[in-house]
Amino acid sequence: MRLSDPSLLKEQCYINGQWVGEPTMAVTDPATGAELAKVPQFGAEETREAIDKAKAAFPAWAKKTAKERSAILRRWFDLMLENKDDLALLMTSEQGKPLTEAAGEIVYAASFIEFFAEEAKRIYGETIPSYRADARIVCIRQPIGVVAAITPWNFPAAMITRKAAPALAAGCPIVVKPASETPLSALALAELAERAGIPAGIFNVVTGKASKIGGEMTSNPDVKAITFTGSTEIGRLLMEQAASTIKKVGLELGGNAPFIVFDDADLDAAVEGALASKYRNMGQTCVCANRIYVQDAVYDAFAEKLSAKVKEMKVGTGTEEGVVQGPLINMAAIEKVEEHIADALGKGAKVVTGGERHALGGTFFQPTVLTGVTPAMMVAREETFGPVAPLFRFSEEDEVVAMANDTEFGLAAYFFARDLGRVWRVGEGLEYGMVGINTGIISTEVAPFGGVKQSGIGREGSSHGVEEFVEIKYMLMAGL
Ligand code: ADP
Repeated sequence: MRLSDPSLLKEQCYINGQWVGEPTMAVTDPATGAELAKVPQFGAEETREAIDKAKAAFPAWAKKTAKERSAILRRWFDLMLENKDDLALLMTSEQGKPLTEAAGEIVYAASFIEFFAEEAKRIYGETIPSYRADARIVCIRQPIGVVAAITPWNFPAAMITRKAAPALAAGCPIVVKPASETPLSALALAELAERAGIPAGIFNVVTGKASKIGGEMTSNPDVKAITFTGSTEIGRLLMEQAASTIKKVGLELGGNAPFIVFDDADLDAAVEGALASKYRNMGQTCVCANRIYVQDAVYDAFAEKLSAKVKEMKVGTGTEEGVVQGPLINMAAIEKVEEHIADALGKGAKVVTGGERHALGGTFFQPTVLTGVTPAMMVAREETFGPVAPLFRFSEEDEVVAMANDTEFGLAAYFFARDLGRVWRVGEGLEYGMVGINTGIISTEVAPFGGVKQSGIGREGSSHGVEEFVEIKYMLMAGL
């Protein structure tokens, strides 16, 4: 890994404006297994220290004017874009996604900082017509206090900025625990935060033992909000733990996204949408199409067109030119993909393309398309989190909406159709927080991202993204 600015590679944690800790925990490149760096293995004690320091830094940050906080955030945004190539290379090295995708994530991640730098100035209060003549009602929105964030490896930069930018904009300090697979992107963000002039104690990064750090974050009474992106299982655990101190909880959890192709769809657009939604980040995103439902009349044509495109996908190390599919994150990911494919084949599905580990070895897997998939198979119920497109056949609109909703998850859904009545019926009928209609990509900083059912609580991005980090105070001003 050759960075043009080697000082972006950090091997220590960032607490209260200091680089601290002994690097002991290896960070590896999933494409090669090679060690890239080491980071500290911190636990409860260091996390408590970070929370204490954040608490101490909070009043001065909250007292700054919105415009002052905005200017500092804006510098952070500019620095991310100026260092885009290095940040992307760091990300590809520790996470595996192709370099162009990593660069895309840096721009996406930075966009949250830009958006919330602007939004900082618009965290408005309200006045309410009073119920008595001698009094007035005023509401103000105040920063909630110290925020703790736990983030996953699939978007090593964006899942941090999507939480940190609104928290900081609102006037809160944050302590971030990045995924142990991808701490280097988080630490590089801290370096840029420091250069941007974010004061000591306001943006902190703690790496190490997840359960110890998470345990402290959820039990420490000085933490007022916990924001998490990751599995439903860990989200449930953190929510339980946070109950003891009644923290505000924001959760972005697993999905099981349906992707429906109706017979009136533009089929080529549907194929492009499916490719983008299914194979981005090798299928390792919580909004990736997981179950692809195709109506009878277009099933065979869709399967053929999709497979033809999937066969052309270049698999390899993310830094190699033209590669669109990198390695999966680890062996456990490969095993889950294999288990889902074996289960489907055992119950009558067919492989149209792919289906096996890639000749490159390691955690490389062939992008796969399966036909003849039914609701009895594991792929129908569980998130595969890998490059496997299972094609289900359906005939009726009501039937497919019912199948699409038959899951405890409710994050993203997609469908392709042209009939206006159908577009509205299906759009409203899908029990999901986000619905992509005639598109496979929905993520943007300007719209609210989040799920219903067991996919989460709260929304990130857009003006709604600030809500997690403010409390509304109502003041009744009487004696007029
Ligand atoms: P994934 O399957 O994407 O790795 P996880 O939910 O396991 O999803 O991980 C998401 C984040 O949660 C990571 O930062 C991980 O280290 C962290 N994590 C895992 N277990 C715990 C735990 N017991 N307490 C707090 N954080 C945890």
